[in-house]
Amino acid sequence: MAETPVYSIVAPIFNEYDNIPELYRRVSEVMDSTGETWELVLVDDGSTDGSTDRIRELAARDKRVRQVIFARNFGHQIAVTAGLDYSRGQAIVIIDADLQDPPEVILELAEKWKEGYEVVYAVRAEREGETWFKKVTAALFYRLIFRITDVKIPLDTGDFRLLDRKVVNVMNQMRERHRFLRGMASWVGFKQIGVRYKRLARLSGETKYPFSKMLKLALNAITGFSYFPLQVATYVGFVAAGLAIIAIPIVAVLRVTGSHFFEGQTTTLISVLFLGGVQLISLGILGEYVGRIYDEVKGRPLYVVREAPEDDRLNQA
Ligand code: UDP
Ligand code: MG
Repeated sequence: MAETPVYSIVAPIFNEYDNIPELYRRVSEVMDSTGETWELVLVDDGSTDGSTDRIRELAARDKRVRQVIFARNFGHQIAVTAGLDYSRGQAIVIIDADLQDPPEVILELAEKWKEGYEVVYAVRAEREGETWFKKVTAALFYRLIFRITDVKIPLDTGDFRLLDRKVVNVMNQMRERHRFLRGMASWVGFKQIGVRYKRLARLSGETKYPFSKMLKLALNAITGFSYFPLQVATYVGFVAAGLAIIAIPIVAVLRVTGSHFFEGQTTTLISVLFLGGVQLISLGILGEYVGRIYDEVKGRPLYVVREAPEDDRLNQA
């Protein structure tokens, strides 16, 4: 076996006890069928259900399995980042541990890679076993991001994808804390292509992405790749000022001609509340960016590792 494998499969794991054996079995089967060398990098993102021991057992039994165990839960995007840091393959595949992304699709991704594509992302043509709420919010999210961000992030595409070593090397240098890996992979450039697949229902367990985490990811995506929310305040400011410039002479004329149309506190109250609201929202948006700047400035490591394969960590956190 060559020193470095051709393929690295990266799977983030947060309480996936029941899914790990099947993940290992399916990935092994698919990867063995390629006839190439491979490794499976399992990143334990602070699991509390015994997943950690299952990962350790697998790593002890099969040298192709390598474990990265976090000191606590750092979140999905950070877990995948650690997986990228520790993987050594020439082509790196990011896959969910719950088997919503069928490992068999890796063969199709690999085919495109062999044709010379450096990023092969899997597009969700269909989704099975997800609530309408998740589907609607996801569809809206992808379209919003597509519209307002500066990089063209493909629609209906998750993190399930194959990345060439060249791309991963660049992404590993991008140490931003609030990460949106899909955006980062698009930002890098290179030859990219999509492969359509059917996203299945979870094999076992519940989603680890509640609405609060989805919202956080969406905010990271927007703030990470767009200034648009900051500019909204400017636009609203111009509109409000424009309205005032039109309104002032009108009200003055009405007053002089003796009309009582604009008397009373209601109009004043409404405009004060409206503008106060807009200002507070703008401040909040500013805060989202400032908070992120603060996090970057602190320069803490992206994650803390409890156990990892020795000596072969390619990048520091
Ligand atoms: N995950 C993780 N850390 C987290 C949340 C999720 O490592 O804090 C992993 C999870 O174990 C799974 C993948 O990320 O392998 C995708 O999560 P999930 O299936 O819950 O998200 P969904 O598919 O529902 O969007
Ligand atoms: Mg899932």
